[in-house]
Amino acid sequence: MVRDAPTFFEIREALRALLTDAFFVAHNARFDYGFIKNEFRRVGEAFTSDALCTVRLSRALYPDADGHGLDAIIRRHRLSGFARHRAMGDVEATAAFVQHATDDHGADAVSAATKSLLKMPSLPAQLESNSIANLPDSPGVYLFYGINDLPIYIGKAKQLRERVRSHFSSDHMSSNDVRLSQELRRIEWQSTAGEFSALLLEAQWVKEKMPLHNIALRKRSKLGFYAISIGDDSVETAPLWFSADEWVAAQQSAEARIFYGPFNDKAAGKRWLADVTKLHRLCEHAVGISKPRGALDPCFARQVGRCLGACVDQETAQQHRERMIAALTGSEMPVWPFVGAATFEERDEANDRVDLLQFDEWCALAGGVRLPFDVDVFKLIRRMLAKHADDFSGLRRIKV
Ligand SMILES: [Zn+2]
Repeated sequence: MVRDAPTFFEIREALRALLTDAFFVAHNARFDYGFIKNEFRRVGEAFTSDALCTVRLSRALYPDADGHGLDAIIRRHRLSGFARHRAMGDVEATAAFVQHATDDHGADAVSAATKSLLKMPSLPAQLESNSIANLPDSPGVYLFYGINDLPIYIGKAKQLRERVRSHFSSDHMSSNDVRLSQELRRIEWQSTAGEFSALLLEAQWVKEKMPLHNIALRKRSKLGFYAISIGDDSVETAPLWFSADEWVAAQQSAEARIFYGPFNDKAAGKRWLADVTKLHRLCEHAVGISKPRGALDPCFARQVGRCLGACVDQETAQQHRERMIAALTGSEMPVWPFVGAATFEERDEANDRVDLLQFDEWCALAGGVRLPFDVDVFKLIRRMLAKHADDFSGLRRIKV
């Protein structure tokens, strides 16, 4: 059916002529409008229009009716003669509904309903209309549920209502927002005392509920650290890679290690190690970038005259090790400054709210259980400690 159809590029001018001095009408208009807007963007043209959603028009004109899907509307108003689920058939059915509603209520009533709808923020049609109006102005975390009540997205906000609304403001809709807008059925939220508590709760909810579209937060799981052993009788010579999950166990092991990082993923860690190796004329075999093929096999850096010669016995293992530790200085993971877990208090005076937050070894604790290492939590604790070194009035350490 589409093989011989013209491309968007070929019909764009004819389409724009149709849409000029008109407004866009569709059933679930956000969806269709998003496609048209994006197609214009792809050919380098801007397109904006008011979009009237006939789902919302149906809801406004027939508030007591059951269901506002196109099939329900066709049945309810005994409209007929359309090839359903074909683009043109759905267009004709939508037009027939608007015509029917006009006959039913009069042109003035339909016009008034349309004007009132077009002034409203373009919230997803399937949401209850007060879902967003009911959100508080406070910081917090929100959770979007989709079809079958599955969690689809979790986000944090300094101001919940503003942030949730911004997902659906037509000027800034990303492709992810368009998808969310389609799938969203219900919003759940929890206020917090501040950004810090919100970030922690977000991390915790994402881990518990595994929403479909939190791609950025999922990527973090590749995060990790390099470590070198500093024990006197250690057999480890080259730095070892630890994922964020392994890191907690590695810290608690008997082996004394210095940790470097965090790195976004192992490839980023390797690049860092390669740069340091080159800059400080270390040996690529000794740092584990390459493996010797036998005794006294010169590493690549040695062959190009850069390695000082640990691989060919021009430098002792101990000398190389000391140079390596010196070279890596500056990238160490900071030592957790407390003995055991620490509890902080975050206060929101305006909303009269206090949250208690627990951390250990840069990780948040939830119900006494340590959550995985999260680089945003780590950075936030570091920033908070620097800012509140003596003064904990905003974010007060109450127990160490
Ligand atoms: Zn070498």
